[in-house]
Amino acid sequence: MKTLVYIDHFKGEVQPASWEALGLGKSLGAASALILGSGVDAIAKSAFEHGADEVFVADDTALTDYRAEPFASTLSAFASSQSPDLILFPTTARTRELAAMSAIDLNTGVLTDLIGLEANGDEIIATRPIYEGKLVEKIVCSGKPVIATTRARAFPKPEADTSKSGTTTKVEVKADALTTVEGYSTSESAVNLGDAGVIVSGGRGVSNNPSLQPPAGMDDKQAELWRAQQGFALVTELAQVLGGAVGASRAAVDAGYIPYSNQVGQTGKVVAPDLYIACGISGAIQHLAGIRAAKIVVAINKDSDAPIFKVARYGVVGDLFVIVPALTEAFKKKLGK
Ligand SMILES: Cc1cc2nc3c(=O)[nH]c(=O)nc-3n(C[C@H](O)[C@H](O)[C@H](O)COP(=O)(O)OP(=O)(O)OC[C@H]3O[C@@H](n4cnc5c(N)ncnc54)[C@H](O)[C@@H]3O)c2cc1C
Repeated sequence: MKTLVYIDHFKGEVQPASWEALGLGKSLGAASALILGSGVDAIAKSAFEHGADEVFVADDTALTDYRAEPFASTLSAFASSQSPDLILFPTTARTRELAAMSAIDLNTGVLTDLIGLEANGDEIIATRPIYEGKLVEKIVCSGKPVIATTRARAFPKPEADTSKSGTTTKVEVKADALTTVEGYSTSESAVNLGDAGVIVSGGRGVSNNPSLQPPAGMDDKQAELWRAQQGFALVTELAQVLGGAVGASRAAVDAGYIPYSNQVGQTGKVVAPDLYIACGISGAIQHLAGIRAAKIVVAINKDSDAPIFKVARYGVVGDLFVIVPALTEAFKKKLGK
């Protein structure tokens, strides 16, 4: 099996799921890495360290910023010349577009958001969750090459071996593009919930501490937002002590407590951390759809009948304004922070 793995990065920072895809490619046979960008020598070095048999690089200022047209043209032309059996992408916003455009160029299909993949002779059988994770389906693609995107944290990440190195091979760049990038909004890159090993999330309950007295002169909505800020400060501190990211329910996002980029669930991010701590979240079906792949769920909620307790390995019935700071202190001591 000859696999080409697209290494996705944002301004030189590699999405860890790229290395997971490379590890998957290696488990099936020979795996080459393909890197597009400008000044990407460090990524190429890292690709060898993560086990790539060959590293192909399209390095050009025209590829400094991701844009679909030059990236897809460069990738498709290169893939046509190499004829791999399989092209793997980590699933990200960029690669969803890139994989689809390349599939059109290469006259094949895309298997998206995979959590499993096996080869049976020449046939590649992929596994992916559907219907908000309630069912898992097995699918094959009749086109060649098979193009697939892998879900973050669904496959093991190979350890980097710094003794490994190699010589990169240049790829011809197709620089034609109708668009230019004028800038980035920081909010979209602020949270990377998909790759987080620990997520501490807050729900509507983070604003529910009537004993907190907001500054004078605030109306009810302002007081609610102020209380939510105090609640999310506790959630954030716990996340920081555990080296994790902050998530939220849709109710917290809709109420304006925290940006949409933090939302977990059916219409937010689907996450797969080792540890998910839900604070003041009831556990509505749409929220649970985003955390099915979490290894351990811990729930902190005042209401012992809250549905979140049905999926929680550990449940604490109590006020998050008491429990969360106590947990933070306990972890600080335990972790020597
Ligand atoms: C089409 C559609 C898509 C949706 N997509 C999403 C999605 O992606 N993500 C998502 O989260 N929701 C989604 N929802 C909304 C979802 O149905 C729920 O409304 C939402 O998840 C509820 O958020 P919550 O648990 O924070 O709030 P609530 O349901 O109001 O729960 C708050 C919880 O906090 C507890 N609590 C209150 N005070 C405290 C305290 N001091 N200490 C401890 N516990 C406390 C309460 O007991 C309660 O269980 C979607 C809905 C629809 C219709």
